[in-house]
Amino acid sequence: MKERTLVLMKPDAISKKLTGIIIDRLEHLGLDIKGAKVRVMTEELAREHYSNLAGQPFLPGVISFMRGDFNGISDHRIYAFVFEGEDAIAKVRGALGATDPAKAEPWSIRGAFGCFKDGVMQNCVHASGSKEDAQREINLWFKPEEIV
Ligand code: UDP
Ligand code: MG
Repeated sequence: MKERTLVLMKPDAISKKLTGIIIDRLEHLGLDIKGAKVRVMTEELAREHYSNLAGQPFLPGVISFMRGDFNGISDHRIYAFVFEGEDAIAKVRGALGATDPAKAEPWSIRGAFGCFKDGVMQNCVHASGSKEDAQREINLWFKPEEIV
């Protein structure tokens, strides 16, 4: 079934100049980019995006990491994409691998490029985990007219 999913390039992927190779891998899943933007990750947006993690002890570290502060990145850029295609949600999650880069297959995106540093899983890419998450996250990051 044709689906849309939200993909975010996290600050570690941006600072390591990995975004091109990650987009290449996702495009080769047979998916199309329907929306793309650079957006400043405010604290408010980070909390809203990860509202499902409210109360988790690691959340402050994740917020700091997602804003770039954690790695000394001050411009707070995130690259956001809407990918579309058959079973896009599961396909992208499969290509990413496990949340913890140490447990992800070494040839997966997170296994190849991610690391665990200072208590945060710095795993390069976010992708929606379910249809419900995808809908909520796409609405949070994109206006309807920004998806072509
Ligand atoms: N995270 C972390 N430690 C944990 C769990 C999550 O640092 O124990 C970070 C990690 O960057 C992850 C994000 O928080 O990608 C969101 O967590 P989630 O459980 O939603 O994982 P995901 O859906 O990204 O695989
Ligand atoms: Mg998640």
